[in-house]
Amino acid sequence: MARYIFITGGVVSSLGKGLMAASLAALLQARGYKVRIRKFDPYLNVDPGTMSPYQHGEVYVTDDGAETDLDLGHYERFTGVSAHQGDNVTSGRVYRDIIARERRGDYLGATVQVVPHVTDAIKQFALADQSDHDFILCEIGGTVGDIEGLPFMEAIRQLRNELEPMQTLSVHVTLVPYIAAAGELKTKPTQHSVRELASLGIKPDVLLCRAEHPIPHSERRKIAQFCNVRAEAVIPALDASSIYAVPLQYHREGLDTEVLRGFGITDAPEPDLSRWYDVMDRHSNPEGEVTIGVVGKYVGLQDAYKSLNEALIHGGMAHRVKVNVKWIDAEIFEQDDSDIAAQLEPMHGILVPGGFGERGSEGKIAAVRFARERGVPFFGICLGMQMACIESARSAGFGAASSTEFGQTQEPVVGVITEWMTAEGLETREADGDLGGTMRLGAYKAALAPDSKVSAIYGGETEISERHRHRYEVNSHYIEAMEKDGLMFSGMSPDGLLPEIVERPEHPWFVGVQFHPELKSKPFEPHPLFAEFIGAALNQERLV
Ligand code: GLN
Repeated sequence: MARYIFITGGVVSSLGKGLMAASLAALLQARGYKVRIRKFDPYLNVDPGTMSPYQHGEVYVTDDGAETDLDLGHYERFTGVSAHQGDNVTSGRVYRDIIARERRGDYLGATVQVVPHVTDAIKQFALADQSDHDFILCEIGGTVGDIEGLPFMEAIRQLRNELEPMQTLSVHVTLVPYIAAAGELKTKPTQHSVRELASLGIKPDVLLCRAEHPIPHSERRKIAQFCNVRAEAVIPALDASSIYAVPLQYHREGLDTEVLRGFGITDAPEPDLSRWYDVMDRHSNPEGEVTIGVVGKYVGLQDAYKSLNEALIHGGMAHRVKVNVKWIDAEIFEQDDSDIAAQLEPMHGILVPGGFGERGSEGKIAAVRFARERGVPFFGICLGMQMACIESARSAGFGAASSTEFGQTQEPVVGVITEWMTAEGLETREADGDLGGTMRLGAYKAALAPDSKVSAIYGGETEISERHRHRYEVNSHYIEAMEKDGLMFSGMSPDGLLPEIVERPEHPWFVGVQFHPELKSKPFEPHPLFAEFIGAALNQERLV
């Protein structure tokens, strides 16, 4: 029987509930429990796939091809448990399913309502696939009191009533602000937030209080008294030096002990936190540093490249070095007076990440050319690999080489494909179909050339599986020309049709991948491509 932990937030948004859920799950896992984390997002998009990264940060893709909230990335990075389609549910998806059923006539003439139909659907998502888990953590997006979140709160209230008495627990995350003028921490917002939650029928068991200053015992007692929880269940959550310090910090504050006590578990094994001590040791005591220039489009908002940023840090942990990431707007390389060399010369490595749309593409291609000509370690991811191929085709004489994503072109070195093979068989789609959920999404295999750099990077493997999210592919028609230019197609889809990885054997380290390796990197298991890229950036001899 799985136990359920419902995590809600109050006072303000952006408290980092996702990290807290991930950290709590990591602590329970360290005690030997099997955990799974789910995210409920009250917005009306069916999934975040069509949202701009500026709106909502990166779209995290699971093995089974779901486009999900970036919090699922935290969950995977902290627990190593692969998320599924069913682990991220939005109001939009719930309503879409219900309306489709209503149109089919499945409700047999009944009036379809928020209670019970929407709440039942939410409960079904929460209760699905629970059998082999000890704890299922459900994080509710948004803040208590949001209109959109009400059906989710109501579903939690019902579940707490319907499941066994000691089978559920409510963790509420709040903010205890510091008013500098008065020199005081303020508990009132927390009191109000708990009252709001209680008015929806949910009494929190544990309060996780975000604060910039230590919360003295007297204030914790005050919060406990007003909010009807034990004083030990008021857990201070102070700002941490790094997100990877959070599990250890919460453990010290007693979060996992208190959660277990809430379930009546007092004889749990002590947690084995060695993995987290090692991660923090590597992170806090670097023996050197490298600077990586990331030439992209959404550089103003780091959440847009969340997993990428983390994977670079993990790559640094593998070598015990600090990775400084310099976010460079590709568009600046398109200006007439742009001095690419001045910007890129100080970089130990250049990375062109995934992205969509034409804006900045010429700047990215210019960055690829700089890395190739100067022998600077280069890593191209998804759109970055496509740019590397266009750059190669241009250097092979196809001056008009481009991607059909950017408009009509004489030389579609990158173009849309309308058919590809999945494990289930042939997948097809319309070239001008819907944008939502119609890309090549999720895990696909790639066959690696045995004598390639990437095969060595993957420990001699000749078949790998990585996650994809793209609509366009490198056009195999141009492979021969690009090979003559020195590009090696070292990874192909198993049917040999779709280029998955390119590298330049003559270059110190030049790798482009059509997939997103950053999605599978973990602090305690850095992705080999990132580890090797950082390694190459560290120990390089430049050509020029
Ligand atoms: N825009 C490109 C495509 O759709 C690349 C996508 C990406 O980088 N994730 O193919």
